[in-house]
Amino acid sequence: MPIARCASCGAPNRKGNAYGVAVIPVGYPDCAIVCSVPGCENPALIWLTAWETAEFNGGRRIFNLSGRSPKVRLAEPRSHVASDEPSPFCSMPVHAG
Ligand SMILES: [Zn+2]
Repeated sequence: MPIARCASCGAPNRKGNAYGVAVIPVGYPDCAIVCSVPGCENPALIWLTAWETAEFNGGRRIFNLSGRSPKVRLAEPRSHVASDEPSPFCSMPVHAG
């Protein structure tokens, strides 16, 4: 499964996990996806295995990330929002519980 890690941290070096290709996510480097290494807050590249790279080359653009601590960067709150700008907060109703 693709993993999100920055260029400095690089791909995990585990046997059986050949993450050989890094692809930039939309918006990189000003993107919401953050390196999954604990303590690292750099924008992430998406590292793909050979099989995932073949799917990417075949046109696939949406992947689930590895479930191991993917991180996301949220928008800064704004003191005021112009009427034609989207709110930084989700407008969908939130149901507790
Ligand atoms: Zn990192």
